[in-house]
Amino acid sequence: MIVEAVNFRPESFPPASCNRLSLHIPDTADVPLLLLNGSRPGKTLVVTAGVHGDEYEGVRAILEVVQELSPQTMSGRLIAVPVANPPAFWQGMRTSPVDGQNMARIMPGSSTGTFSERIAFTLAHNVIDFADFYLDLHSGGITYRMPSMVGYSTTDPRSTAAAAIFGASILWGHEQIAPGRTISYAASKGIPWLYTEARGAGRIHPQDLEMMKSGIYNLLRHLGILPGAPPSAAIQWRLQGEGDTDAGVTATKTGFLLHKVHLLQTVQKGQLLGTLVSPTGELLEEYRAEKAGIVGMVHEFPIVQPGDSLFLLADRDL
Ligand SMILES: [Zn+2]
Repeated sequence: MIVEAVNFRPESFPPASCNRLSLHIPDTADVPLLLLNGSRPGKTLVVTAGVHGDEYEGVRAILEVVQELSPQTMSGRLIAVPVANPPAFWQGMRTSPVDGQNMARIMPGSSTGTFSERIAFTLAHNVIDFADFYLDLHSGGITYRMPSMVGYSTTDPRSTAAAAIFGASILWGHEQIAPGRTISYAASKGIPWLYTEARGAGRIHPQDLEMMKSGIYNLLRHLGILPGAPPSAAIQWRLQGEGDTDAGVTATKTGFLLHKVHLLQTVQKGQLLGTLVSPTGELLEEYRAEKAGIVGMVHEFPIVQPGDSLFLLADRDL
């Protein structure tokens, strides 16, 4: 069923219903949306995936959870957007093939802006605005390798409490979030949030799918939308620090990346993280840790362009 995005009102759909919709944005795109209205009133969880088009774990997690859920057992509502950036998704690209923009850097967009900005505007005002709690499912995509983790705000107790029950074994707390992200928009509206990361590589690892699915179920229980309490989670790692993948150690040349460290390795200040070489093996650049920390992100795709963020270091907090 196609709905004009500006006219989407979740409460106009009947109780105890599962609705498979397309939000129509004029002259732009149709964004798929799944709406589950419970049989009783309650809170609204909004979940998005595919903000980056090359990250597929969250897409499948949403489709499977929606297939499994029975709206009759729900008090409240689940609004899920499995593919938030359809052109990027169909091309298997992180950014939009239409205008090259990164949807996670331009929120909340503009109704009169670029193609991507118009989608961002709809996600913000016609989807996220309905949330009592917001979850954005990401992974490393084709380019990066990320820990399978949940990210949260250390300054919002609602976000911190939700991270503790999500079920991920790695938690990454952020004091600040760069502007333009879906979660920074949610925060600006006073909506508590979480996001995930996972292995990526254009594949769906079964453990990452399970982490995201159980995370959605645990959040639904935590918010009272599903009955019962989430099981206690076994947390192995707590990381802290900036989580902006664009803000890591950055390449200034084109080349072939030789990694010298692996994800979640502890490194010392000055330690060699990787080298960039030419196709004949000549050294082009060296990358060293600007501080001691934990390797929280790796540019796993070995082809590197100038400006690419290659390694991101986190602080351990345990
Ligand atoms: Zn992403």
